[in-house]
Amino acid sequence: MREFVYQRATDISGAVALLDGDPQARFLGGGTNLVDLMKAGVERPDRLVDVRELPLGRIETTQDGGLRIGATVTNSELAAHPEVRRRYPALAQAVLAGASGQLRNMATVGGNLLQRTRCAYFTDTSLPCNKRSPGSGCPAVTGEHHNHAILGASEHCVAVHPSDMGVALAAFDAVVSYETTEGGGEVALADFYLPVGDTPHLETALPPGALITAVTLPPAQVASHSRYRKVRERASYAFAIGSAAAALDVADGMVREVRLAFGAVASRPWRAREAERVLTGRPPEGAAFAEAADAELAAARVLDQNAYKLPLMRNLVVALLTELAEETDR
Ligand SMILES: Cc1cc2nc3c(=O)[nH]c(=O)nc-3n(C[C@H](O)[C@H](O)[C@H](O)COP(=O)(O)OP(=O)(O)OC[C@H]3O[C@@H](n4cnc5c(N)ncnc54)[C@H](O)[C@@H]3O)c2cc1C
Ligand code: SF4
Repeated sequence: MREFVYQRATDISGAVALLDGDPQARFLGGGTNLVDLMKAGVERPDRLVDVRELPLGRIETTQDGGLRIGATVTNSELAAHPEVRRRYPALAQAVLAGASGQLRNMATVGGNLLQRTRCAYFTDTSLPCNKRSPGSGCPAVTGEHHNHAILGASEHCVAVHPSDMGVALAAFDAVVSYETTEGGGEVALADFYLPVGDTPHLETALPPGALITAVTLPPAQVASHSRYRKVRERASYAFAIGSAAAALDVADGMVREVRLAFGAVASRPWRAREAERVLTGRPPEGAAFAEAADAELAAARVLDQNAYKLPLMRNLVVALLTELAEETDR
């Protein structure tokens, strides 16, 4: 057992001050990922700063009609919130598709965004892994990679981001707010996760020691007609092998606005902007949905064991958008 200091922060400036200048310190949310990684020896913090008593546990409507979700809101609270269910249903569905009831009661919004990959090589400290140990190599590229990335990866790392929640947040243009000892800042979720390149160990645009304080969803009419679907290897309590969040707004028989984001295909929740571009202004029908999916997936690079993700994602997009379009017709 490795010793570490446990501290409970009660105000934001105190929390960031406790991490300042200590690269080995970590914030502790629900602990559902961090503590597991500590047991595996992947994370070896000398100090944990528990953030759950910070005043960041509320979900509030913003002045412009969006939603501001505090970083310590639990996944269960988020999925149950009436405004989330009414105005961003795909977000509530995505959260409920993740983990188990017990885990969702513990897991926080901030922690969910920063959870680490489930690549088995990453969690096995006896093996090389560029993400855990920069420059050591990526055994997944030639090894077991059936649930690894098909988009945006590099030869240095092909891991996928495991979050379901993040996929819906990506579709809805979420913005992450954070606080540091130097002051606060914001970063769009689209820019929050860094490109993999040759630095897979550098995962987010957060400054060192930054505390996530909230995630804000801008108002979006289209989001109220949205859905999340997750494909996994068993019916519950499993990470995605492919997932999608979709939102559709049809006017005068044409797609007025569409939002699409994919999960379990890249190192980050993948906003499918090319698919959105292809679909906008077209009639909402199967051929156009398939064409849009293919346009997005044209950039995919598959490995020996994960080519199945191409038809999986195509079928997922067509099925989700077809359901949303049929509901529009009623
Ligand atoms: C068995 C199992 C199954 C799961 N299945 C799924 C699934 O299907 N889908 C899915 O999406 N997830 C799944 N998860 C992952 C789960 O959702 C995450 O573990 C959880 O969301 C992490 O939240 P947490 O608050 O417990 O984070 P923690 O474990 O406390 O922290 C995770 C990371 O975030 C950092 N952190 C936490 N809060 C903040 C903050 N406010 N500011 C800055 N840094 C912070 C920590 O320092 C740490 O690095 C599963 C987990 C388990 C154990
Ligand atoms: S895919 Fe990424 S996380 Fe997995 S072994 Fe390779 S470098 Fe490590």
